[in-house]
Amino acid sequence: MTRCKHSHRVPLDLVQEAWEKSTTEHVDMAVQCQLSSHDDGEHYGLFSDTGEYGTATWLRWRERTEAELIALPDCPLVATGPDGEACCLFDGHAEHHTWETALEEVSCSD
Ligand SMILES: [Zn+2]
Ligand SMILES: [Zn+2]
Repeated sequence: MTRCKHSHRVPLDLVQEAWEKSTTEHVDMAVQCQLSSHDDGEHYGLFSDTGEYGTATWLRWRERTEAELIALPDCPLVATGPDGEACCLFDGHAEHHTWETALEEVSCSD
């Protein structure tokens, strides 16, 4: 199980929009897909988690199409166990929860 290798440059107008709309000091110019390896479908890269509590802004794209920013609620599922780890993805995502795959050290916030 490996993490999806796809990454995407954030379109400049979206970067600009994020600057204007939010108080975030750091806007990523490129994001990597957070899902575990998949062959088709949409890629989701975490763009910003500074929005409303319980939501995050994701860059969603397909190959050869324009990317778009969408706000999605956080995945509510937490690993069972004493130190239940939260999933870093969004509600209703495909593939596996981040704590299921235990790829490299995944941290939701960096
Ligand atoms: Zn992907
Ligand atoms: Zn999840």
